[in-house]
Amino acid sequence: MAGEREEVVLRGLPISKGIGIGFPIFFTNFDEDISESQISKKEIEDEIDRYRSALARSRNDVEKLQKISLQDGTPEIVAILGTHLEMMQDPLLTSVIEEKIRVRQQKIETVFFHLIEEYKQRFSILQDIYFQERVRDIVDVSRRILNHLRPVGRIRMSEMPHNSIILAHELVPSETIEASSSVVSAFVTAAGGITSHAAIISRAKGIPYVANIDIKMLKRVDLAAIIVDGSQGLVIINPTRQTLKKYSEVKKSHVEKYKLLKTATNLKGETIDGYEIRIFANLENPKEIDYLNKCGAAGVGLFRSEYLFLSRRRFPTEEEQFEIYKRMARSLRGRPLVVRIFDIGGDKKPDLLPEEPDAKYFLKIGNELNPALGCRAIRFLLRYPELLEIQLRALLRASRFGDIHILIPMVSDLTEIQIIREIIERIRADLHKKGIKTAKEIPLGCMIEVPSSALMCDALAKEADFLSIGTNDLVQYVLAADRNNPNTSELYFSTHPSILRLIRMIVTSANSARKPVVLCGESAADPAMIPILIGLGIREFSVAARHIPLVKHTIRKWRILEACRLAEGALEYASAPELKQYLAAETAR
Ligand code: PEP
Ligand code: MG
Repeated sequence: MAGEREEVVLRGLPISKGIGIGFPIFFTNFDEDISESQISKKEIEDEIDRYRSALARSRNDVEKLQKISLQDGTPEIVAILGTHLEMMQDPLLTSVIEEKIRVRQQKIETVFFHLIEEYKQRFSILQDIYFQERVRDIVDVSRRILNHLRPVGRIRMSEMPHNSIILAHELVPSETIEASSSVVSAFVTAAGGITSHAAIISRAKGIPYVANIDIKMLKRVDLAAIIVDGSQGLVIINPTRQTLKKYSEVKKSHVEKYKLLKTATNLKGETIDGYEIRIFANLENPKEIDYLNKCGAAGVGLFRSEYLFLSRRRFPTEEEQFEIYKRMARSLRGRPLVVRIFDIGGDKKPDLLPEEPDAKYFLKIGNELNPALGCRAIRFLLRYPELLEIQLRALLRASRFGDIHILIPMVSDLTEIQIIREIIERIRADLHKKGIKTAKEIPLGCMIEVPSSALMCDALAKEADFLSIGTNDLVQYVLAADRNNPNTSELYFSTHPSILRLIRMIVTSANSARKPVVLCGESAADPAMIPILIGLGIREFSVAARHIPLVKHTIRKWRILEACRLAEGALEYASAPELKQYLAAETAR
């Protein structure tokens, strides 16, 4: 047991926070070889029936899992399972497979085996993470169907013993979904990234997860207990009694904090002295909209519509967009839906293959030396007005089904808002001429993310109907520190004095123009930033839905006057590290 073997600490990639303490279980991915098996012409129809029944049973499984996830309040998982259901209706898994059985005269297992191999091969050479994830999903769905065709000779994730630490080469979504957080203490894998579906699922379930660990090497080690620290990315094998004690205490305090947070969901976001702070949700996947109620969101403060394009690898048509926006607006029942028009480019640029239809838009722009400073967001849309107009038409048509707001990303000059307003009015007039109704008011907002818009915020506040501060980009552009570059992460200070001054300026301008201002960057979900932002005058936040309880919980610990004093004190500092220290000392509660 612990103490007798040597303690070893391995450092990996932190994927899902939390502490897991338990015993190792090696989970082998199931990549067996299936021998070629031919069938006669007479057997073809029976084989197709066998396939259809396996497909139907798989669909049933996924629908059941979706219902469970819905009850558990894990919208991310419901959305991923929704994608799997869509795939099961895709010709790739229906008519194409049946055609292959007919043409090749092979058993369905053989056809699937080749399909999985083919996709795995393609997957290994692809760079684009969105495409990689889609391929991983196809392999996953194929395996689920295959499981219904013949028994699986290995322990399933749903049958793991208590306190299991799962060690695997890689995890696919369905396996991760089947793991119960009361049984599986943590995941440790060799492959896998932060944005993979398995990562999203483990975070939604609250199962700690560390990737980038040499699992093959672990197989050769004499393993007893294991501790996984998902926040630091540590895997501690054979911990000493002392280490075990330390981590057990940390784990206990996490559990207590989590219980406290759960109770915050149904509470108002208000300070001790009763000032209401409205908290909206940031959303990337429209399928998650129905679950926002569970998180206590006041509406959608930022729908990153570019994910409609990034997930499809093509621009959605006007009809597709209209249906999506209409459904979202309706399900919010009068609460605001802020749709940011496509913010494409910079760090949100797909690696489209030249033969893909929408690759033409990116080929024309070419490889930019500084994509973050290049043709992205509103600049991209003004360069391709046909894409912009399709999106605006869809939004205007959907506007009468709810409270839709339109938000312009990366504005760097006043004229950009004026141009968009003109286009909106032209489209509106055209729709009305055709007898198509729109909402009377569709507020038009301006994102403040670049230095020029922050400095000109008084003029922008007069022109726009609302402002939205995107601190993720504002920090990167003001400090000239790439938000995704590990070499500049030391320079990327959300609490830099210059940022605080700018936020104060923006709030003052918005207040004088009597326009609302919302803050939608990651800072809005940072407990150390929230009080200072309130002190600087922010009264609306928009954060990822899962952070809403934490934000409410933090707000409820402060009085408005204390927050204002904190902000006043902070504005005195000129150096970023000193300011950081001041905030750490003053905001720890
Ligand atoms: C931001 O820049 O703060 C923001 C919310 O937009 P995104 O993170 O999508 O660039
Ligand atoms: Mg941004």
